[in-house]
Amino acid sequence: SEDIFKKIVSHCKEYGFVFQSSEIYDGLSAVYDYGQMGVELKNNIKKYWWDSMVLLNENVVGIDSAIFMHPTIWKASGHVDAFNDPLIDNKDSKKRYRADVLIEEYMAKIDDKINKEVEKAAKRFGDSFDEAMFRQTNPRILENQAKRDEVHTRFAKALNDSNLEELRQIIIDCEIVDPISGTRNWTDVRQFNLMFATEMGSTADGAMKVYLRPETAQGIFVNFLNVQKTGRMKIPFGIAQIGKAFRNEIVARQFIFRMREFEQMEMQFFVRPGEELEWFAKWKETRMKWHKALGYGDNKYRFHDHDKLAHYANSATDIEFEMPFGFKEVEGIHSRTDFDLSSHEQYSGKKLQYFDPELNKSYTPYVIETSIGVDRMFLSTMSAAYCEEELEGGESRVVLKLPAALAPIKLAVLPLIKKDGLPEKAQEIIDNLKFDFKCQYDEKDSIGKRYRRQDAIGTPYCVTVDHQSLEDNTVTIRYRDTMEQERVAIDKLADIIADKVSM
Ligand code: ATP
Repeated sequence: SEDIFKKIVSHCKEYGFVFQSSEIYDGLSAVYDYGQMGVELKNNIKKYWWDSMVLLNENVVGIDSAIFMHPTIWKASGHVDAFNDPLIDNKDSKKRYRADVLIEEYMAKIDDKINKEVEKAAKRFGDSFDEAMFRQTNPRILENQAKRDEVHTRFAKALNDSNLEELRQIIIDCEIVDPISGTRNWTDVRQFNLMFATEMGSTADGAMKVYLRPETAQGIFVNFLNVQKTGRMKIPFGIAQIGKAFRNEIVARQFIFRMREFEQMEMQFFVRPGEELEWFAKWKETRMKWHKALGYGDNKYRFHDHDKLAHYANSATDIEFEMPFGFKEVEGIHSRTDFDLSSHEQYSGKKLQYFDPELNKSYTPYVIETSIGVDRMFLSTMSAAYCEEELEGGESRVVLKLPAALAPIKLAVLPLIKKDGLPEKAQEIIDNLKFDFKCQYDEKDSIGKRYRRQDAIGTPYCVTVDHQSLEDNTVTIRYRDTMEQERVAIDKLADIIADKVSM
């Protein structure tokens, strides 16, 4: 599956979905550009999210707040003091790692070993995996389980206490080696803040240190009263936002999974204190349904509930998707209590309360947050859609089985040959449909090659214009997934496409 992942990455480049940033200058690490196909797919993902939040929920409205914000906001939110990763260097390779990730990878390796042994045992005794795990008496497995549990307990405690000394000690005790130098020559662990900073204003006036926002949520919190008052919003209600966020990630691997500049789609839902866990459960369910409605396969999702909660949360879960490199977080759902609003009240000295006409009193609302990365959603979409198929006659094709609503191009219009008025007829079809669907004209190479190119970018429909089209106004429509073809009237095309493309 690492193999498939590599293929997806090169497919993204080859067909204009994703390019390395600043490529002609040898690239900028963990920063990416979206190409002509990528931007369409990304916009469609954003629309699918925005419509499900803002269009379909009468009590959710959107905003678009600035990336720069008053620096005190990041003090109040806790990001200046606590938005850190624990880093460790190997003294021989001079490579820098996240201490927590080194330990997590080590535990994952032990898990792998345990699973392999259990699978072997299951095969030997004809048990299911779960039975075999339950009946385990094999000393090798028991020993590994004990080791894993011990490390897990120490690790959770060290994180909870922010005990950097102990994190280092775990790395030493587990004899974790640097994959590059192969040595265990580690420095101390120290905290590294993930926010990018820059300066605003001229230095003569005294420049102000400002941050590039590491999340879009704070723009919503500080506008809570503006929106509530001007929109006459009644609790419960939500504010949604899509926008760029920036984090100086240290472990910047895995393509667009972890980027330094990325995009978030966040929604803060404001509720009565005491009702937050009910709403948390509701949004958890709603968000999972949203993911599953795309049809990537229900078994590709799971919840990962947090045992260790961030300073602001009283309940939290991730929606994980099975990427080619394992189950990974795509979305976080957090019950953030009144932490953010209260903290902004304190730091700004302004009241951020809501007067509840039904209860006849004022309070600071509690917040449920749903936060999803556009780029991670893009990657899960690519991973789910990418297919290599063997065809009859020893041929093969690469096809992106994208949901039609997300496909960059909905319809390709292909004149069978480049003359006899067929290109003009094809252009006429596009001119009639282009206001409703993104269409593409292609006349180069054989029809077979043109179909392959459309398969590779996930176009759900291709129509071929031939001489008969000039006589009876019909075309051959070809369906991407089944490759079936049929003859249809040109004036039926809009209905056929709309049927699958609208969600
Ligand atoms: P991780 O544990 O993977 O670093 P996180 O828990 O810090 O993620 P949140 O702060 O909850 O992430 O951010 C919400 C969402 O934003 C994530 O679920 C993810 O989809 C997206 N996201 C966060 N960091 C990045 C990044 N560096 N690159 C791309 N997307 C990101």
